Amino acid sequence: MNTTPVRLAVDHEAQTLTVEWGDGHASSFSYEGLRQACPCVECRGGHGKMAESVDPVVFRLPALMMYEIKTVEPSGNYAAQITWGDGHRSGFYRWTDLRAWCPCERCREA
Ligand SMILES: [Zn+2]
Ligand SMILES: [Zn+2]
Repeated sequence: MNTTPVRLAVDHEAQTLTVEWGDGHASSFSYEGLRQACPCVECRGGHGKMAESVDPVVFRLPALMMYEIKTVEPSGNYAAQITWGDGHRSGFYRWTDLRAWCPCERCREA
């Protein structure tokens, strides 16, 4: 599984962050799903729950509210740091996790 991002695109209208991978596959994540999946300690409810896995279904649920992503910055070569409209920026999304969460039909059936 290729987990090297080659292109990132944020679409505020569609509320999606799309990651294009080195193998040509593209994954579109809903803002709301990303926010729910925020891997930071605060959002995960403490260190004890850090290992709890995220159910990729969060990226397929209809969005209940609008979010804003200010910036998506690479952190080293292992993760993306998302800065949200409300200033929250402690979540580091590992590329390997994002690839594993890909909500597309093909990946979910695999
Ligand atoms: Zn968080
Ligand atoms: Zn996919």
